[in-house]
Amino acid sequence: MKFTKITASIGPNCEDKKILTEMVRSGVNVCRLNFSHDTGDVQGVKIDMVRSISKKLGTPVAVMIDIQGPKHRIGDFKTENHYPLKIGQKFTLDTDETPGDEHRVYLPDMDVMKSLSVGDRILLNDGKIELKVDAVFDDKIETTVIRGDEIWSRRGFNLPDTDVDTDILTDKDKKDLEYAITKNPDFVALSFVQCAEDVANVRDFIMTRTSHPIKIIAKIERPNAVKRITDIATAADGIMIARGDLAVEVPFEQVPAISRHIIRECRKLNRPVIMATQMLSSMVHSEFPTRAEISDVANAAYLRADSTMTSEETTIGDNPVNVIETMNKILAYSDKDTIENPYDWSRIDNVPENDWSRSVSSMAHLNKAVAIVVFARDTDIATQISCRRPDIPIIAVCDEDVTANQLCLLRGVFPICDKYLFGQRDAFNSARQFGIGVGKLVIVDDDKISLRTLE
Ligand code: PEP
Repeated sequence: MKFTKITASIGPNCEDKKILTEMVRSGVNVCRLNFSHDTGDVQGVKIDMVRSISKKLGTPVAVMIDIQGPKHRIGDFKTENHYPLKIGQKFTLDTDETPGDEHRVYLPDMDVMKSLSVGDRILLNDGKIELKVDAVFDDKIETTVIRGDEIWSRRGFNLPDTDVDTDILTDKDKKDLEYAITKNPDFVALSFVQCAEDVANVRDFIMTRTSHPIKIIAKIERPNAVKRITDIATAADGIMIARGDLAVEVPFEQVPAISRHIIRECRKLNRPVIMATQMLSSMVHSEFPTRAEISDVANAAYLRADSTMTSEETTIGDNPVNVIETMNKILAYSDKDTIENPYDWSRIDNVPENDWSRSVSSMAHLNKAVAIVVFARDTDIATQISCRRPDIPIIAVCDEDVTANQLCLLRGVFPICDKYLFGQRDAFNSARQFGIGVGKLVIVDDDKISLRTLE
């Protein structure tokens, strides 16, 4: 049994129903559908497939749609489509829509043009090209090449030093979100969040269109979002540490420290946190992970993140089922080790001692309980207890599929959606359904907390 959950990115190589079913059987808890690639009905079919697999297997699985957000791109180049940029040369980004060359290219995004300042960096090709802004005019940005490489048409770029004054949702995002909302996803992940207001704006957008309680996951991939993590996590329902773009925008050596900090902050604020990107990348083609990848997945469990995430290794990998089996195996072993050898910093709780969820966790620990059973009208109570990271399972009994699905993301929470057990507040049979035959149970029903022994 693993406590750390698996969020799997779904793409061309795992859209087959048999493969996806095997992936869920092997440990997937949340399916992530990336709207940067497919949109509309193409994604809708995948959402329906996840729902049907979940029903067939009788196990809750969450659907997370990932919205592309304001990813900035340059325009086209002339016939060659790409040019080498050399260190020290000048390069201009401008409002001229004609194809570019080694001296200039079109910058379609006026918000970027208006937001850049002298000295700001512009990073292309995953940071292999670095441009430094020399001068800003109404219709052009003059730069010097600090690091050079081939520059290609329509490539995305990152602006680590710039607060871009732009809407969090582009026109494409609004269209994608309008569609996705009709499919009742459990989570919406937002890319390139810069501040709490971005999250609030998207929440308004969603709430004016549906009463379905969609949760918002803010992706942290910009330095200004790292600085504002407390406000952003408070405004959002969860956080994804999007290490791909993050490692371009901040010095890469800082990414592990930032990740640790974000996990601690999320625990304190009762927000689930997903560790994402390149966890088992080599498995796109390899049957086995590298030693470093094994450690990366294990470390996410040791840091007590809520979930790890797969990316290309499941979307375009040769064997997505093997990827999930591998991740599941590493997490199950590491979670067990974390529980048996708990004396590390991630055990230390940073909420007040009299916090009720901390009392529940301590009560379970001191009484050697085998599980905590929570009757969950929504996700709040189970989330708070999960964030105390107790080392026994939290069986969350609920009566709504959406609640069960959303609880799938939480570390150590095992949702059971059963109207009868929920209505009867039947903790013993809930524990039995989970496979527990004997032992003490801490039972949480709204504000009532009790200890009972199952014999
Ligand atoms: C990332 O940058 O790490 C990430 C998860 O985002 P995306 O896959 O949308 O680039």
